[in-house]
Amino acid sequence: MPDIAYVNGRFGPLADAVVNIEDRGFQFGDGVYEVMRTYRGQPFSVEAHLTRLERSAQALQLSTGHTAAQWTSLIHEGLRLSRFPETKIYLQITRGRAPRDHPFPIDLAPTTVLTFRELHPLEASVRNAGVQAITIDDIRWGRCDIKSVNLLANVLARQRAKEAGVFEAILIREGMVTEGSVSNVVVVRNGVIQTAPEGHRILSGVTRAIVLELARKEGLPVSEAFVSREELLAASEVFLTGTTVEVLSVVRVDGQVIGDGAPGAVSRLLSARWNALIG
Ligand code: PMP
Repeated sequence: MPDIAYVNGRFGPLADAVVNIEDRGFQFGDGVYEVMRTYRGQPFSVEAHLTRLERSAQALQLSTGHTAAQWTSLIHEGLRLSRFPETKIYLQITRGRAPRDHPFPIDLAPTTVLTFRELHPLEASVRNAGVQAITIDDIRWGRCDIKSVNLLANVLARQRAKEAGVFEAILIREGMVTEGSVSNVVVVRNGVIQTAPEGHRILSGVTRAIVLELARKEGLPVSEAFVSREELLAASEVFLTGTTVEVLSVVRVDGQVIGDGAPGAVSRLLSARWNALIG
């Protein structure tokens, strides 16, 4: 089964897909993206991802050129062609092709790319044991709510995590936890589930919103307020949320053990509720 790409109206093998070198995505990182996944072969939370895509695009004065219904039908077409058991769907829109100049022509045709690749779920043993993280300065720009393809700070942070032999880098701005390099960060403190508020400092995760809703349904107290690095380290539980990580416990941060060093009761409950939702 092949990896499939869609570029500006055409599906084909991903290995053959190309974009022009004067594309502003290539030259300026001038574009937005979404990562979606399937469960049991069906794309998950497409509406929420497309709503966020539209919001990101509007913030950059970028037209996606497609309605939600058109995106959805392209996604289904790609899934029909690729036919993996589970698929990671990447959608990217850049401002299009123009001679290199910072200001952009208003009427450019955007470059539209979708890729369909096999999704390999995280191993159950990793999930059951929990993962480790490091903290690192959040050096990103002031609009982290826009899912822009400008990901250098995230790339460098995740590389540092990899070099440290841990799963995620947790970003700290002015002493407070914003989010992970590829995930949102949630802590449990004194029985309260706490995570950074929506706003310009974080990406408003699709998974974050669903997991907070699951927590509220369980009657668990939820607080959307920043947590300091010290509070993170002293938390009884820490977990990550995201399309690919789902609900993933963090059992050590900067080498310090969180709680009793194993996925805690709240993380396990929310993980079970998540599995029930997607199953
Ligand atoms: N924050 C960042 C920086 C991310 O890259 C991601 C993954 N897209 C998330 C949070 C989680 O978002 P979602 O749950 O929508 O995948």
